[in-house]
Amino acid sequence: MGTALGLDLGRLEQNLRLTGIDPASITDVILSHAHLDHVGGVTRLDGTLVYPDAQYHMAAHEWSSGPHPDLRVLPVNDGLRQTFVTTAQRSLGAVHDRVNFVQAGREIMPGIQAVEAAGHMPGHTALLITAGKSKLLHVVDVFHHAAFDLAHPTWQTAFDHDPPGAYATRRRLLDQVCVDRTAVLAYHAPFPGLGHVLVNGPRYDWVAAPWQFEVQPHPPALGPADAVRSALWRPGQWTESPLSAGRPASTRPWPHRSAALRYPELRC
Ligand SMILES: [Zn+2]
Repeated sequence: MGTALGLDLGRLEQNLRLTGIDPASITDVILSHAHLDHVGGVTRLDGTLVYPDAQYHMAAHEWSSGPHPDLRVLPVNDGLRQTFVTTAQRSLGAVHDRVNFVQAGREIMPGIQAVEAAGHMPGHTALLITAGKSKLLHVVDVFHHAAFDLAHPTWQTAFDHDPPGAYATRRRLLDQVCVDRTAVLAYHAPFPGLGHVLVNGPRYDWVAAPWQFEVQPHPPALGPADAVRSALWRPGQWTESPLSAGRPASTRPWPHRSAALRYPELRC
Protein backbone atom coordinates (compact mmCIF):
# COMPACT_ATOMS: atom_id res chain seq x y z
CA MET A 1 0.00 0.00 0.00
CA GLY A 2 2.62 2.51 1.02
CA THR A 3 1.50 6.07 1.51
CA ALA A 4 -0.21 6.43 -1.88
CA LEU A 5 -3.61 6.95 -0.24
CA GLY A 6 -2.49 8.84 2.84
CA LEU A 7 0.41 9.34 5.21
CA ASP A 8 -1.39 7.39 7.93
CA LEU A 9 -1.13 4.26 5.78
CA GLY A 10 1.85 2.23 4.70
CA ARG A 11 3.03 0.85 8.03
CA LEU A 12 4.43 -2.44 6.77
CA GLU A 13 8.05 -1.38 6.98
CA GLN A 14 7.55 -0.04 10.51
CA ASN A 15 5.70 -3.17 11.57
CA LEU A 16 8.36 -5.45 10.14
CA ARG A 17 11.00 -3.62 12.16
CA LEU A 18 8.86 -3.86 15.31
CA THR A 19 8.71 -7.62 14.88
CA GLY A 20 12.48 -7.81 14.50
CA ILE A 21 12.56 -8.30 10.73
CA ASP A 22 14.95 -6.06 8.84
CA PRO A 23 13.33 -5.13 5.48
CA ALA A 24 16.81 -5.36 3.95
CA SER A 25 16.72 -9.08 4.75
CA ILE A 26 13.71 -9.62 2.46
CA THR A 27 14.96 -11.50 -0.59
CA ASP A 28 11.84 -11.76 -2.78
CA VAL A 29 8.79 -9.57 -3.33
CA ILE A 30 5.91 -10.84 -5.49
CA LEU A 31 3.87 -8.11 -7.18
CA SER A 32 0.45 -9.52 -8.09
CA HIS A 33 -0.56 -6.54 -10.23
CA ALA A 34 0.12 -2.85 -10.67
CA HIS A 35 -2.67 -1.32 -8.59
CA LEU A 36 -1.40 1.13 -6.02
CA ASP A 37 -2.46 -0.90 -2.99
CA HIS A 38 -0.29 -3.76 -4.28
CA VAL A 39 2.81 -1.88 -5.44
CA GLY A 40 2.72 1.34 -3.42
CA GLY A 41 4.78 -0.14 -0.59
CA VAL A 42 7.77 -0.81 -2.81
CA THR A 43 9.21 2.64 -2.23
CA ARG A 44 9.20 5.24 0.51
CA LEU A 45 8.05 8.81 0.01
CA ASP A 46 11.57 9.82 -1.01
CA GLY A 47 11.61 7.13 -3.69
CA THR A 48 14.09 4.83 -1.96
CA LEU A 49 13.39 1.11 -1.93
CA VAL A 50 11.90 -0.40 1.23
CA TYR A 51 13.42 -3.78 0.29
CA PRO A 52 16.74 -2.75 -1.26
CA ASP A 53 18.16 -6.24 -1.69
CA ALA A 54 15.06 -8.02 -2.97
CA GLN A 55 14.26 -9.47 -6.33
CA TYR A 56 10.80 -8.55 -7.59
CA HIS A 57 8.50 -11.00 -9.35
CA MET A 58 5.66 -9.99 -11.66
CA ALA A 59 3.85 -11.33 -14.71
CA ALA A 60 5.39 -9.91 -17.87
CA HIS A 61 1.99 -8.94 -19.26
CA GLU A 62 1.22 -6.95 -16.12
CA TRP A 63 4.61 -5.29 -16.14
CA SER A 64 4.11 -3.98 -19.65
CA SER A 65 0.52 -2.86 -19.15
CA GLY A 66 0.40 -1.72 -15.54
CA PRO A 67 2.10 1.64 -15.43
CA HIS A 68 0.97 2.81 -18.82
CA PRO A 69 -2.30 2.90 -20.80
CA ASP A 70 -4.48 0.44 -18.94
CA LEU A 71 -4.62 2.30 -15.65
CA ARG A 72 -5.82 5.37 -17.51
CA VAL A 73 -9.16 3.74 -18.29
CA LEU A 74 -10.10 3.04 -14.69
CA PRO A 75 -13.66 4.33 -14.19
CA VAL A 76 -12.78 6.33 -11.08
CA ASN A 77 -12.40 10.04 -10.54
CA ASP A 78 -9.51 11.84 -12.22
CA GLY A 79 -7.49 12.43 -9.06
CA LEU A 80 -7.62 8.81 -7.94
CA ARG A 81 -6.89 7.56 -11.45
CA GLN A 82 -3.80 9.75 -11.64
CA THR A 83 -2.66 8.47 -8.25
CA PHE A 84 -2.92 4.91 -9.59
CA VAL A 85 -0.81 5.83 -12.62
CA THR A 86 1.90 7.77 -10.81
CA THR A 87 2.21 5.20 -8.01
CA ALA A 88 2.65 2.35 -10.49
CA GLN A 89 5.16 4.35 -12.50
CA ARG A 90 7.18 5.27 -9.43
CA SER A 91 7.14 1.80 -7.86
CA LEU A 92 7.73 -0.26 -10.98
CA GLY A 93 10.27 2.22 -12.30
CA ALA A 94 12.27 1.86 -9.08
CA VAL A 95 12.65 -1.91 -9.56
CA HIS A 96 12.89 -2.10 -13.34
CA ASP A 97 16.39 -3.59 -13.21
CA ARG A 98 15.59 -6.32 -10.71
CA VAL A 99 12.40 -7.91 -12.02
CA ASN A 100 11.87 -11.60 -12.69
CA PHE A 101 8.94 -12.20 -15.03
CA VAL A 102 6.81 -15.05 -13.75
CA GLN A 103 4.77 -17.51 -15.77
CA ALA A 104 1.39 -18.84 -14.71
CA GLY A 105 1.47 -22.46 -13.66
CA ARG A 106 5.12 -22.31 -12.63
CA GLU A 107 6.68 -21.94 -9.23
CA ILE A 108 8.09 -18.54 -8.43
CA MET A 109 10.00 -20.13 -5.61
CA PRO A 110 9.60 -23.46 -3.82
CA GLY A 111 6.05 -23.75 -2.54
CA ILE A 112 4.67 -20.64 -4.27
CA GLN A 113 3.13 -21.05 -7.72
CA ALA A 114 1.84 -18.28 -9.97
CA VAL A 115 -1.83 -18.73 -10.95
CA GLU A 116 -3.27 -16.95 -13.97
CA ALA A 117 -6.05 -14.63 -12.76
CA ALA A 118 -6.45 -12.08 -15.54
CA GLY A 119 -9.43 -9.77 -15.74
CA HIS A 120 -9.02 -7.58 -12.70
CA MET A 121 -5.86 -6.46 -14.50
CA PRO A 122 -4.34 -7.91 -17.66
CA GLY A 123 -1.58 -9.78 -15.81
CA HIS A 124 -3.30 -10.12 -12.44
CA THR A 125 -1.70 -13.12 -10.72
CA ALA A 126 -2.95 -15.21 -7.80
CA LEU A 127 -0.63 -17.39 -5.74
CA LEU A 128 -0.99 -21.03 -4.77
CA ILE A 129 1.03 -21.66 -1.62
CA THR A 130 1.78 -25.28 -0.75
CA ALA A 131 3.24 -26.73 2.42
CA GLY A 132 3.14 -30.49 2.60
CA LYS A 133 -0.43 -31.53 1.88
CA SER A 134 -1.84 -28.14 2.79
CA LYS A 135 -2.70 -25.61 0.11
CA LEU A 136 -3.67 -21.99 0.32
CA LEU A 137 -4.78 -19.83 -2.61
CA HIS A 138 -4.00 -16.14 -2.22
CA VAL A 139 -6.72 -14.81 -4.51
CA VAL A 140 -5.44 -11.21 -4.39
CA ASP A 141 -8.25 -9.21 -6.09
CA VAL A 142 -10.26 -12.07 -7.61
CA PHE A 143 -12.96 -10.86 -5.24
CA HIS A 144 -13.14 -7.87 -2.96
CA HIS A 145 -15.95 -8.45 -0.48
CA ALA A 146 -18.00 -11.49 0.40
CA ALA A 147 -21.25 -9.55 0.62
CA PHE A 148 -20.60 -7.98 -2.76
CA ASP A 149 -18.99 -10.17 -5.36
CA LEU A 150 -19.29 -13.57 -3.68
CA ALA A 151 -22.99 -13.13 -3.02
CA HIS A 152 -23.34 -11.54 -6.48
CA PRO A 153 -20.52 -12.95 -8.63
CA THR A 154 -21.61 -11.03 -11.73
CA TRP A 155 -21.24 -7.68 -10.00
CA GLN A 156 -18.04 -5.77 -10.73
CA THR A 157 -15.92 -3.28 -8.89
CA ALA A 158 -14.77 -0.12 -10.59
CA PHE A 159 -11.22 -1.46 -10.45
CA ASP A 160 -11.80 -4.47 -12.72
CA HIS A 161 -10.00 -3.72 -15.97
CA ASP A 162 -11.93 -6.34 -17.94
CA PRO A 163 -15.25 -7.10 -16.18
CA PRO A 164 -16.21 -10.20 -18.24
CA GLY A 165 -12.68 -11.56 -17.84
CA ALA A 166 -12.70 -10.85 -14.11
CA TYR A 167 -16.02 -12.67 -13.79
CA ALA A 168 -14.73 -15.71 -15.70
CA THR A 169 -11.62 -15.83 -13.51
CA ARG A 170 -13.71 -15.49 -10.36
CA ARG A 171 -15.90 -18.42 -11.39
CA ARG A 172 -12.96 -20.60 -12.40
CA LEU A 173 -10.84 -20.09 -9.31
CA LEU A 174 -13.63 -20.08 -6.74
CA ASP A 175 -15.19 -23.24 -8.19
CA GLN A 176 -11.76 -24.85 -8.07
CA VAL A 177 -10.95 -23.97 -4.46
CA CYS A 178 -14.32 -25.32 -3.40
CA VAL A 179 -13.84 -28.61 -5.23
CA ASP A 180 -10.28 -28.94 -3.94
CA ARG A 181 -11.17 -27.66 -0.45
CA THR A 182 -8.31 -25.26 -0.70
CA ALA A 183 -8.08 -22.58 1.96
CA VAL A 184 -8.27 -19.01 0.68
CA LEU A 185 -6.43 -15.88 1.67
CA ALA A 186 -8.43 -12.87 0.50
CA TYR A 187 -6.60 -9.57 0.58
CA HIS A 188 -9.73 -7.41 0.81
CA ALA A 189 -11.84 -9.64 3.06
CA PRO A 190 -12.22 -8.59 6.69
CA PHE A 191 -9.24 -9.42 8.91
CA PRO A 192 -7.73 -11.97 8.90
CA GLY A 193 -9.04 -12.60 5.38
CA LEU A 194 -8.59 -16.32 5.78
CA GLY A 195 -11.27 -18.91 5.15
CA HIS A 196 -12.96 -21.16 2.66
CA VAL A 197 -15.33 -20.52 -0.23
CA LEU A 198 -18.40 -22.69 -0.65
CA VAL A 199 -20.55 -22.94 -3.78
CA ASN A 200 -24.15 -22.10 -2.97
CA GLY A 201 -26.16 -22.31 -6.17
CA PRO A 202 -25.28 -19.34 -8.38
CA ARG A 203 -23.49 -17.58 -5.54
CA TYR A 204 -20.66 -18.31 -3.15
CA ASP A 205 -20.50 -18.24 0.61
CA TRP A 206 -17.46 -17.03 2.53
CA VAL A 207 -16.71 -19.15 5.59
CA ALA A 208 -14.22 -17.16 7.60
CA ALA A 209 -11.72 -19.13 9.63
CA PRO A 210 -12.76 -19.00 13.28
CA TRP A 211 -10.30 -17.61 15.74
CA GLN A 212 -9.04 -19.79 18.53
CA PHE A 213 -6.56 -18.14 20.78
CA GLU A 214 -3.98 -20.22 22.53
CA VAL A 215 -1.68 -18.23 24.72
CA GLN A 216 1.57 -20.05 25.10
CA PRO A 217 4.91 -19.06 26.55
CA HIS A 218 7.85 -18.99 24.20
CA PRO A 219 11.17 -20.39 25.38
CA PRO A 220 12.84 -17.54 27.26
CA ALA A 221 15.97 -17.83 25.13
CA LEU A 222 14.13 -16.64 22.04
CA GLY A 223 14.61 -13.05 20.94
CA PRO A 224 11.96 -11.16 18.96
CA ALA A 225 13.19 -12.25 15.51
CA ASP A 226 13.49 -15.89 16.50
CA ALA A 227 10.08 -15.74 18.11
CA VAL A 228 8.54 -14.49 14.88
CA ARG A 229 10.26 -17.18 12.86
CA SER A 230 9.15 -19.89 15.26
CA ALA A 231 5.57 -18.70 14.96
CA LEU A 232 5.38 -18.76 11.17
CA TRP A 233 2.72 -20.73 9.39
CA ARG A 234 2.57 -24.44 9.80
CA PRO A 235 0.12 -26.67 7.93
CA GLY A 236 -3.33 -26.20 9.37
CA GLN A 237 -2.30 -23.49 11.76
CA TRP A 238 -1.90 -19.76 11.50
CA THR A 239 -0.23 -17.55 13.99
CA GLU A 240 -1.51 -14.10 14.62
CA SER A 241 0.70 -11.12 13.98
CA PRO A 242 2.05 -9.71 17.21
CA LEU A 243 0.75 -6.34 16.05
CA SER A 244 -2.82 -7.33 15.33
CA ALA A 245 -4.32 -8.47 18.58
CA GLY A 246 -6.44 -5.37 19.01
CA ARG A 247 -4.09 -3.42 21.18
CA PRO A 248 -0.81 -1.62 20.61
CA ALA A 249 2.25 -3.81 20.29
CA SER A 250 3.92 -1.88 23.06
CA THR A 251 1.33 -3.13 25.55
CA ARG A 252 1.52 -6.76 24.49
CA PRO A 253 3.74 -9.25 26.20
CA TRP A 254 5.29 -10.32 22.88
CA PRO A 255 7.55 -12.22 22.37
CA HIS A 256 6.66 -14.16 25.49
CA ARG A 257 3.22 -15.05 24.19
CA SER A 258 1.66 -15.77 20.86
CA ALA A 259 -1.89 -16.31 19.74
CA ALA A 260 -2.55 -19.08 17.27
CA LEU A 261 -5.51 -19.75 15.00
CA ARG A 262 -6.58 -23.12 13.83
CA TYR A 263 -9.22 -23.65 11.23
CA PRO A 264 -11.28 -26.80 10.65
CA GLU A 265 -11.44 -28.79 7.46
CA LEU A 266 -14.50 -27.59 5.59
CA ARG A 267 -16.37 -29.49 2.96
CA CYS A 268 -18.12 -28.27 -0.17
ZN1 LIG B 1 -6.38 -4.43 -7.71
